[in-house]
Amino acid sequence: MTERPGRHAARDLADTLIRPDQPWLADGPGAVGPGAVGEGPSPNGHAVVGADPGSAGPGRESTPAADAAPAAEHHRGAAGNASRLRLVWVYPDLLSTYGDRGNLLVLSRRARLRGIEVEATEVNADQRVPADGDIYLLGGGEDLPQILAAERLRNDGGLAAAVGRGAVVFAVCAGYQVIGQRFGGVEGEPVSGLGLLDITSGRGEQRGVGELVADADPALGVPRLTGFENHQGVTTIGPSARALAIVSYGVGNGDGTEGAYAGKVLGTYLHGPALARNPGLADLLLGWAAGPLPPIDPAAEEWGARLRAERLRAVPQ
Ligand code: GLN
Repeated sequence: MTERPGRHAARDLADTLIRPDQPWLADGPGAVGPGAVGEGPSPNGHAVVGADPGSAGPGRESTPAADAAPAAEHHRGAAGNASRLRLVWVYPDLLSTYGDRGNLLVLSRRARLRGIEVEATEVNADQRVPADGDIYLLGGGEDLPQILAAERLRNDGGLAAAVGRGAVVFAVCAGYQVIGQRFGGVEGEPVSGLGLLDITSGRGEQRGVGELVADADPALGVPRLTGFENHQGVTTIGPSARALAIVSYGVGNGDGTEGAYAGKVLGTYLHGPALARNPGLADLLLGWAAGPLPPIDPAAEEWGARLRAERLRAVPQ
């Protein structure tokens, strides 16, 4: 029996990235670090995607002091809401399946429709995770890239520091497992997560594959959730976190619940991308980061509403 080519590729990647003599693991000349973001490659090597024209263009002045300031305080508008948000997409090179990039695009669009400036930064696994973002996104991934991502993020410390200063985290599937206490490796062996959310994942008997529909915790005020799932992991929620939702169709965590959250850290098995299918969830995250949000013109919601209705109709009710 032959292994799938993707597994070989992932293992090669693992062998390459896990070597301790990689220069980017160390601080110092040549290392990348958190800091300024601008359009295109930034001084720290991060790519900035979809930056607002005029806000992060080539001519934008970027001072270390301004970039180091805590974003949540730094960008308050007259009404007390944030007028600018920094979105950080963590490790798209390792964690991005089933269109997870769409989550970044949806958050950016829904923020801009409300007049909030957005700086969206992609941070690959050979770069430092800046600690001064407002919303951090992690996507899904295959087992080996997921293990690598967990190791890198633990060593990096940037995401944990960001959560410590109140940043929002939205993590999907592999990303969800990675931000937990532990998850099951390739053979089910326990792998340490980041401990940012009180969940523990193992490996189930079967993959959960297909549509997933779940009713969100009423405390969140988010309509029924729809998404796509494909995971081996099963997840148990600890006492410091709450279930995001109760499953009405599909597998989710594997015990009738789906996803989990605590404070402003939220994880889910929903791909789709989740925030395209669930704009209410996108607004929950934006509201956590920016304060109360004005409504969006219903005409701008039409496409998303159609997608959502179509996906919900595809599932037996
Ligand atoms: N590798 C993880 C699992 O199988 C996550 C999969 C995913 O992100 N889709 O459980």
